[in-house]
Formats: sequence, C-alpha cells, structure tokens
Amino acid sequence: MSKGRVALVTGGTRGIGRAISEHLRDAGYKVAANYGGNDEAAKRFTEETGIPAYKFDVASFDDVKAGIEQITKDLGPVEVVVNNAGITRDGTLHKMSYEQWEAVIHTNLTSCYNTCKCVIDSMRERGFGRIVNIGSINGQAGQYGQVNYAAAKSGIHGFTKALAQEGAAKGITVNAIAPGYVDTDMVRAVPHHVLEKIIAKIPMGRLGRASDIARGVLFLVADDADFMTGSTLSINGGQHMY
Ligand code: NDP
Repeated sequence: MSKGRVALVTGGTRGIGRAISEHLRDAGYKVAANYGGNDEAAKRFTEETGIPAYKFDVASFDDVKAGIEQITKDLGPVEVVVNNAGITRDGTLHKMSYEQWEAVIHTNLTSCYNTCKCVIDSMRERGFGRIVNIGSINGQAGQYGQVNYAAAKSGIHGFTKALAQEGAAKGITVNAIAPGYVDTDMVRAVPHHVLEKIIAKIPMGRLGRASDIARGVLFLVADDADFMTGSTLSINGGQHMY
C-alpha cells in the first residue's frame, strides 16, 4: 500500500538522508531527494541511485514552495516528508555570531515549517500524510558549543508534538527521530580526539550507521504505523535514554 507514494527527503543526497532516500526507494516509494548546493554530490547520487535530486534551500519558504510544486508536477502529490536537512555552525555562545545562530535555526527548524506548510493542505484533503522530523540527541540533552543546534533540534521535538495533535484526526502522523552520533560528513568534521571521547560514552561502542536511522524512518512512514504519532524515536546506541 505504501507502493507509489511520493516521498520528499530533504538533504536526501548525502549522509543519513541518502540512506533514507535509498531505503524508501527500495520499499517502493517514489522518492524526491532535496539538496542545498553540492551539485557534484547530487549528480553522483542520482547516477548511482536513479533517484531524482531537487536543489532548493530549505531555509527559504519561497524556494521550498517552488521545489515542492516541481516535485508534485514530476511525481505527484507529496504524501511523505522527511525533514532531514541540517547543518552545524558550532561555537560557544560568547563567540557565536548572529549569523551562526540564524543559519542553524533557519536551516534546521524553520525548514520544518516551510516544508510542512507547503504540503499540509494537500495531506488534509487526502486524509493521509506521514511526516518524520530528524532531531538529535543534542536537542534532547544539549551539547557544549551548540546552543544554536540544540535549540533548533529541541524545537523540532516540540514542533512534532504540536503538529501531531493537529494532524491526528486527518490521518496525518508526525514523529521525530533523535539520532545519536552517526558516521557521516557532519560527524567526520568533529576533531578525532573529541570523537574518541564521544564513542567511549556510547554503550554499543560504535557510531551509528546512516542505515540505522533509515530503518526507523521506514517504520514510521508505513501506512499501518497509523497509531503512532507525536513520538520521538531515539536511535543512539544507548548513549542517552530519555
Ligand atoms: P550531512 O552533512 O552528511 O548532509 C546534510 C544534507 O543536508 C546534505 O544533503 C545537504 O545538501 C543538505 N542540506 C544542508 N543545508 C541545506 C539547505 N539549506 N537546503 C537543502 N539541503 C540542505 O548531514 P548528516 O547526514 O550527518 O545529518 C542529517 C540530519 O541528521 C541533520 O538534520 C543532522 O542535524 C541530523 N543528525 C545528524 C547526526 C550525525 O551524527 N550525523 C546526529 C544527530 C542528528 P548538500 O549536499 O547540497 O550540502
């Protein structure tokens, strides 16, 4: 029954998003993978996966609106949205510029407003929708040097619970996933000695794999996952039990 549903994965061409795009494709969804600016990675992604990539800035409402209109023309109405695109601009508050704050809040949190706002009317009319927002362990627990990122991710968890209440009577479920540290470009940018300390705190003794998160998404977007809404699925190797 999920077969043929159109799924938009923001930041779907690299890292966790790429794994989500591929898992959804394999499960029979028609996937549109969004990306921000890395044309080379997106081109490679489409060549390797056969999944179309759509370039638009999730932080901009007008860009998202135009991007979703194009996807709807190409593939059909979007019934599944995975808000995965995200960035870090780390620094302790006393050194953090307003630009660092704003970039992370708009890309990681305002983006959820932008995509959901553009699909919600059509989901309500169709009586079906699946929205999964990718939060973070650092939105649950906070993290030194990440007031912007922790605030945005924590905001995602609140956004999820509020929209879940609004969508419930219309067949729309809204859930979040809070990944722990996952082996992607974002985490590879963390200095090696810091990463070693982080891994030492993970009971499973390893970083997550992008596929660990993608499997959670597959579960949450399934047609028959229709009684699960407003929840946050922690996938973190036991690092934070919330
Ligand atoms: P990556 O940096 O590997 O990939 C980020 C993706 O987001 C890319 O496809 C990128 O596109 C896209 N993107 C970034 N900015 C924008 C934008 N303005 N508009 C559209 N697309 C954009 O990230 P990860 O795979 O590591 O992270 C994915 C999500 O998971 C993020 O929300 C992150 O916060 C969250 N997360 C990650 C964890 C980790 O340990 N890796 C832990 C917890 C949460 P492009 O290629 O064009 O740059």
